[in-house]
Amino acid sequence: MLYLKTEEEIELLRKANLLVSSTLAEIAKIIRPGVTTKELDNLAEQFIRDHKAVPTFKGYPNPYGSPFPASICTSVNQVVVHGIPDDTILQDGDIVSVDCGTLIDGFCGDSCYTFCVGEVKEETKKLLKATKESLYKAIEQALPGRRIGDIGYAVQHHCEKQGYGVVREFVGHGIGKEMHEDPQVPNYGTRGTGKQLRNGLCIAIEPMITLGSPKLRMLDDRWTVETCDGRCAAHFEHTIAIHKGKADILSTFEQIEEIEGHLY
Ligand code: MG
Ligand code: MG
Repeated sequence: MLYLKTEEEIELLRKANLLVSSTLAEIAKIIRPGVTTKELDNLAEQFIRDHKAVPTFKGYPNPYGSPFPASICTSVNQVVVHGIPDDTILQDGDIVSVDCGTLIDGFCGDSCYTFCVGEVKEETKKLLKATKESLYKAIEQALPGRRIGDIGYAVQHHCEKQGYGVVREFVGHGIGKEMHEDPQVPNYGTRGTGKQLRNGLCIAIEPMITLGSPKLRMLDDRWTVETCDGRCAAHFEHTIAIHKGKADILSTFEQIEEIEGHLY
């Protein structure tokens, strides 16, 4: 069932999402070779709790194994999603996707950004650029009257024409009081198909794009998902509200991009 939000609820969602964005910006300030992913997690958890919010990922249930043990997902290089922060030391040339979720005043925030660690290869920068562009192309489609398939088509078309792989197994989602609500928002699709978008619908759009094949495998921890061919993957996510006839982006990369100095 689609749960359409009121204007008041959209403002609460904005608050939760801006906290996610500020958390990712705090992380951007300390990402460099030599930092561990656990240090990023400690910073994120402290920052979120200092703002009287809850990190929604921590303790997130897993039907196949233990609940998620950390406040952010840190997915390094070939890891696509759900990497668990640990003693892994980030190296010059790595990329790391940091996915973060918050709950404040009863509403959820969810956003992800793929960061460069030091100097990364040109082909990797191009993957990040294409993935981020595909997110904004998808958001352009998120208008009342359009359909879920228009969003997926925009991501798929932009990335596949450049030879990248589009992950099928993980998708975007509705968001509100719950982090994952209906509808599912795939990163592939056919124009003019799927559920119709309406004012009040709030969704997280999150392209997960691979440099090589999008074939995935899950590691024994039952969380970490990586590419089978070992090549890199990128992941960018915004939460948006469709209202007043347009797409309103509730999270923001502005602070991150200022810190990064628009590397790509
Ligand atoms: Mg996310
Ligand atoms: Mg999400």
